[in-house]
Amino acid sequence: MIRFRDLSIKLKLISVQLFTTLFILVFFVGIYLFVQYRQFETNAYDRMATLAEILGSNSISALLFFDDDAAEDVLESLATQPDILSAVVYDHNGEVFASYTQPDHVDTTLRDIVEGKYTHDDHLRLTQKIIFDNLKVGWITLDLDTSNRRSELVETLGQAVLLFIAGLILAALLAIRAQKPISDSIMNLAGTAQKVRDTRDYSLRVEATSQDEIGQLVDSFNDMLEKMWHHEKHLADLVSERTLELEEAKTRAEESDHLKSAFLASMSHELRTPLNSIIGFTGILLQGMAGPLTDEQKKQLGMVKGSASHLLELINDVLDISKIESGRIEMHGEEFKVDLLLVMAVSSLRPFAQKKGLPLDLDIAPNLPKLKSDKRRLEQILLNLINNAIKFTSEGSVGVKCYLRDEFLIIDVIDTGIGIKEDDLKTVFETFRQIDGGLDRVKEGSGLGLAISKKLSELLGGTLSVTSEVGSGSTFTVALPIVLEAEEVDHD
Ligand code: ADP
Repeated sequence: MIRFRDLSIKLKLISVQLFTTLFILVFFVGIYLFVQYRQFETNAYDRMATLAEILGSNSISALLFFDDDAAEDVLESLATQPDILSAVVYDHNGEVFASYTQPDHVDTTLRDIVEGKYTHDDHLRLTQKIIFDNLKVGWITLDLDTSNRRSELVETLGQAVLLFIAGLILAALLAIRAQKPISDSIMNLAGTAQKVRDTRDYSLRVEATSQDEIGQLVDSFNDMLEKMWHHEKHLADLVSERTLELEEAKTRAEESDHLKSAFLASMSHELRTPLNSIIGFTGILLQGMAGPLTDEQKKQLGMVKGSASHLLELINDVLDISKIESGRIEMHGEEFKVDLLLVMAVSSLRPFAQKKGLPLDLDIAPNLPKLKSDKRRLEQILLNLINNAIKFTSEGSVGVKCYLRDEFLIIDVIDTGIGIKEDDLKTVFETFRQIDGGLDRVKEGSGLGLAISKKLSELLGGTLSVTSEVGSGSTFTVALPIVLEAEEVDHD
């Protein structure tokens, strides 16, 4: 149902005026009809009282001499008053003495005496005493027909209804015209506000047509639009200024990023060549190819080779991350059996685990499909994760599990090591992040391994995630999508 307050201002104004008119019409016509009827009643009773007075005094001698015929004659004179339906004269005992009924009227007169006046059906009835010499000699009752008067009133009511309708139509026409100046300016204001909202065009203005409160509203609204227009213009200037600055800054940043990556790549390359020579030549020396070495010399040279290899690993990591960040790394997809890759990775790190007295278990689910991915990069991820697991575990075990879940190949690297604090879990994959990092760090590393592994996993279309509990251990999970090629499915 539509509520009054949801109507448009136009309809509201029209209906308020119509309701007011209707109310006034009903009120005054009602009062008019009521007054009319009351007046008729008063006049009628006055007339009946006068008649009763005359008829009563004319009946006195008949009553005194018990001459009911004479009384009947007196009442006969009512033949000239057709709206007096009946009349009865009672003797002083209250017995009917004489009566008269209009010729075509069925006598409905009540025979008991109720003094005074009252209305009864369509009649007005008046009963009063007949007094002679201060003595009550009888009563007289007159009955007046009011049905004519009633139908007259009903007729008047019918005319009033017609007047109502005409009045309402007139009021509606007037209301439609009268509300126009008010509703037009409000609707104009609302329309412009809507347009401003839709188009955000703050140069629009509403035309003020009056000096009243609506006119004030229009002025304030226009004033507000003016301010918004200036504000928006200022904002637009500011935004384009800042955009320009940002674009310049972005270009500079991209340039310097590019330069940084190029620098890192060439530096790493320049560093790798001499390092490879150091490692190569130290190897030759250690193998005794350049002559015998004392045990102390072997020990010292072994340390040189270890440090050089570590440095080479760091440089390789830096090179990888700079390639990933500058987007210059490419993935090479090939089909391979992941079981073999896992066996090789685990075997190559087993000596490292054995040195720490840790078992390194491998658990591969049967019937795994071939994987299409970058084998070398996956190997790099796995070596890094298993290496970390061993590095950060001093007792318990390290395990690798491989299985299928939904459309993904899952590789879990599980350890029972020191674990990672909840706060650190958020930053563990960031570059150069080492938890408890510092110069007095016990474990060596670049802080790049996990960052590289995560980015590589994502470049392979998968994810790398971690769950960990301090003191209980960590589980790093690589999930890679499996794309089953039509041929493979047929084959299987
Ligand atoms: P790093 O070369 O220092 O190992 P990573 O990126 O591989 O660098 O690891 C970042 C840090 O995350 C490590 O320094 C270590 O504090 C924490 N971390 C990585 N793997 C583990 C693990 N298996 N158990 C506990 N902490 C780990």
